Amino acid sequence: MAALTARARRALYGSRPMSVTVVGSIAFDAVRTPFGARERMLGGAATHFALAASFFDEVRVVGPVGDDFGEEDMAILRTRGTVTDDVERVAGGRTFFWSGEYGENLNSRETITTELNVFEHFDPKLSEGARESDVLFLANIQPDLQLKVREECAGASFVAMDSMDLWINIARDALERTIRTVDCLILNDEELEMLTGRPTTLAAATELLGWGLSAVVAKQGKYGATLYTADDVFALPAYPLEHVVDPTGAGDTFAGGFVGYVAAQSGEEPTHEVLSRAMAYGTALASFNVEEFGTERVARLTSEEIAARVSDLHRMTAFSETPVALRG
Ligand code: AMP
Repeated sequence: MAALTARARRALYGSRPMSVTVVGSIAFDAVRTPFGARERMLGGAATHFALAASFFDEVRVVGPVGDDFGEEDMAILRTRGTVTDDVERVAGGRTFFWSGEYGENLNSRETITTELNVFEHFDPKLSEGARESDVLFLANIQPDLQLKVREECAGASFVAMDSMDLWINIARDALERTIRTVDCLILNDEELEMLTGRPTTLAAATELLGWGLSAVVAKQGKYGATLYTADDVFALPAYPLEHVVDPTGAGDTFAGGFVGYVAAQSGEEPTHEVLSRAMAYGTALASFNVEEFGTERVARLTSEEIAARVSDLHRMTAFSETPVALRG
């Protein structure tokens, strides 16, 4: 029997938890912040995404690693049952390596080194399980690779993606081609403006909705995130924290919470309302990520801790609209 698309399977078997496939970097990171440094720790966009999304769904990670990727690293990747069948170990290769340094203001970061290593010749071949995923996240990686994976997951009902200034600068056409095939773009506010040449995030998001996207999420670092759909705008501040140690991976952790929540809705249409709630989960998860280095905090996070911060966010951002007589 021919393989069913994710949509057809849902129609046949009714609602059930969805599976999420993510393609992106699995990395070793060296990070320096005003509060300390790590020479080599597990990182990568797909890693941070999976650690967050695995609270909601079964996650499948697609990406290559080298001989230097140890069993203890793989064990962290497998947290909460994440499936690593599509993590390709390249014999004789070295794992993607990134190093960065943060200024006093943790919102500014300088990339010191990017060594693509095993990603340089990576040609994704997905297992049947990954190809059949209902929900797909294309984490930040070369846009042609993102497109290849997107085309392999033709039946996915919700596809979101991230990118970065590097690809806007050196692979704009490929990036635009890829964006035009997905449902939701999650990008830093400045990158949205850079991508479209529009002077405000709202103008950039409006233009991108015209490219066929149903949602655009602007990440604003420590200021939070804003969702734009054809229906409305929804803005959420970051969860207030007294101490931030390492923002690396915050964006991917946000995406893991956001996309993971959408997937957990079991086939419900990702309306503005659903995506707004997803923003709260993304925001709560990202707030834990930045409290410690790398994957340390989210790897031992509990569902009760997440629920408590989502509830705090709800309380802290809601107000009653009581009209007052305005003068003039
Ligand atoms: P974020 O802080 O959310 O932007 O994500 C940082 C993570 O992305 C780190 O763990 C890096 O390993 C990874 N990363 C940094 N630069 C790149 C790149 N050019 N391509 C893919 N992943 C990257």
